[in-house]
Amino acid sequence: MSAAAAGPEVSAPVTTPCRSFHALVILPLLVVALGAVLVGAGVWGVVHSLERERAEIVQAKEADAANLARAFEESIRQTVRRLDQALIHLRAEYAAAPDAFLVRAKDWQRSLYADLAFQVGVIGPDGRLRFSNLGVVPSPIDLNDREHFAVHRRSGEDALFISRPILGRMSGKWSIQFTRRIVQPDGSFGGVMVLSVNPADLTSFYGPAELGRQGSVMLVGTANRAVLARASAIPSDAAGVGRTLVDRPYLDPAGPANTIHYLASEVDDVVRIVAARRLRDYPLLAIVGLGWEELMAPYEERRRDVLTATAAAGGAGMAAILLIAWLIRMQIAQHRRLVEAQRQIADSEERWRLALEAVGDGVWDWNAATGEVFFSRGWKSMLGYGEDELANRLEEWETRVHPEDWAAAQADVRRHLDGTTPVYANEHRVRCKDGAYKWILDRGIVVRRGPDGKALRMVGTHTDITRRRQSEEALRGKTVELERSNAELEAFAYVASHDLRQPLRTINSYLALLQKDLDGTLEEETAEYIRFARDGAQRMDRLIVDLLEYSRVGRKTRPFALCAAAGIFATVRDNLSEAIAEASATLSIAEELPVLWGDENELERLFQNLIGNAVKYRVAGRPPEIRVAAAAEAEGWRFTVQDNGIGIAPEHFERIFGIFQRLHGRSEYDGTGIGLAVCKKIVEHHKGRIWVDSEPERGSTFHVLLPLPKADAP
Ligand code: ADP
Repeated sequence: MSAAAAGPEVSAPVTTPCRSFHALVILPLLVVALGAVLVGAGVWGVVHSLERERAEIVQAKEADAANLARAFEESIRQTVRRLDQALIHLRAEYAAAPDAFLVRAKDWQRSLYADLAFQVGVIGPDGRLRFSNLGVVPSPIDLNDREHFAVHRRSGEDALFISRPILGRMSGKWSIQFTRRIVQPDGSFGGVMVLSVNPADLTSFYGPAELGRQGSVMLVGTANRAVLARASAIPSDAAGVGRTLVDRPYLDPAGPANTIHYLASEVDDVVRIVAARRLRDYPLLAIVGLGWEELMAPYEERRRDVLTATAAAGGAGMAAILLIAWLIRMQIAQHRRLVEAQRQIADSEERWRLALEAVGDGVWDWNAATGEVFFSRGWKSMLGYGEDELANRLEEWETRVHPEDWAAAQADVRRHLDGTTPVYANEHRVRCKDGAYKWILDRGIVVRRGPDGKALRMVGTHTDITRRRQSEEALRGKTVELERSNAELEAFAYVASHDLRQPLRTINSYLALLQKDLDGTLEEETAEYIRFARDGAQRMDRLIVDLLEYSRVGRKTRPFALCAAAGIFATVRDNLSEAIAEASATLSIAEELPVLWGDENELERLFQNLIGNAVKYRVAGRPPEIRVAAAAEAEGWRFTVQDNGIGIAPEHFERIFGIFQRLHGRSEYDGTGIGLAVCKKIVEHHKGRIWVDSEPERGSTFHVLLPLPKADAP
């Protein structure tokens, strides 16, 4: 059953503007917010994992730098230890046999320590270079100003001294001087044993394979903060060697031995992860730096790609969410409109139902698709049932319709369903709860059809017409009865008057014979009696003739035909010519006269009676002037017969059309009082009307309205 058929008590859900606002705004906003949270969470997850990855990479790289530094420190420690051992050994050899040592040392390449240093030298206690394996000392080279000599001469301590890189006066090369004090057998200062080391040899431990393009290794003296050796691909291998470092955290003597830093180099400005290790036994720092940018480049590239992809995915996600939110909003708005439309329909349906119920009609609503039907309370109570006593099923109606009316009702329904009739309407009897039948006027109309034209829904009303039907029935009965008795009366009157004329004629003819035979022999009084008798008999005959004519109207009639009014009036004038001449009357008849539909004889009789009366009821001494006219009106042709006679008082306007109704004695105006009754009967036989307008002494106008000829008349 359709929603509308659910009955007036079912109302559609009411949507308040507030709720509508909530659904329309809050829901899409929620979706957007939820979507934004999800997208945000996704982006955060990606960023977070990138951060974690970065931290892991950094940690791994720090570990790499630390490991490289440890290995570098170890290698330096061993090299320096070997250099120191070499110095001690060479010094001992020198002390034992200086000349032999000098001879041997000349062939330095074959020495045990040739791989450690490129030069071995001896500085005399006077500060002059005594020996170098690099060749004969050309002229005295004074080295008193050199730190690596001065330090030994100054302190009596026997310790390894490592110089900052200096340009060798003998070698002409940058070199680090590893030196130890030579002691004379008497314990006095005997000069300095020198091993000159190419700084690059100290840092050749690692190549670009281990350090990368931006990596560097560096050996720094902790005492003098000098860069003893340094290697890096950028900008050039030995850049910075000999430089004194200023602001390096790893130089802090109070700090831990092994540290990790992120520093921009003082030499080349490259930012590096720097792992610094302070050597345990020597005033040296072994430092390995790994280029930060270079290390992080793959990660940064990946990060860029991931972030770009994430931004794109997030953007697309957000766009999709906005689209979904928009679609949801549209959906909700659409739904709202639908609900509102349904509510309005339900409202209006409820209104017409209530209105119909209020006027006492029952309402029904039939859903062809489901076969369900809604019957309103009105119909049920019409039949004497309570609201819940009849189900909303078609059978409730079908089984109660009177068997004699059933077929006609079905036929009417079908005719409307197949579109033959614009409305379904049928009057039938329906059985009430008490077993009696009520007449119901059932009306309905299909309100919805399918694309194939099939009826889907039909609504209608039930009206109780029992009273009307009963009075109609009673009226019909009375009419039939009246018609019957009327016909009987007319037949009787006709037969009686017809049969009465015969004896009357006999009386009349014998009275005439008597009068003739006894003429001159009778006393005047007797002769008058006979005249009265004859007069009465003749009057009676006229009465009978008029009565016969009256009863004949509409009974012995010919089929209606077209007849020209002009012809009718010509005949009438002809028939009345004597009376007209006698009364010196003028009869003027309109020239334009219509064609009528009817019985020509009856119409002649009608107008002859009217014009005859107009001649008859004249004022003495005033010649009658009679005018006949015809005018077209909505209902038909209106004929008027106007005279200047004695006129009629208004209170007699109705009465004069009754049979035997006369306003004058026979002595004044002769007549039977049947003429106008015949006129009325003829006019009614032609479905017209007759009435009179008059003013006493001034004349009368008789009006006759006759319907137009039928359109299909021949
Ligand atoms: P009657 O045979 O008396 O003429 P009608 O039925 O023709 O019978 O008329 C009934 C009465 O109506 C008449 O008696 C007369 O008083 C009145 N009447 C009829 N026609 C006219 C007329 N043209 N002018 C005045 N009175 C009339």
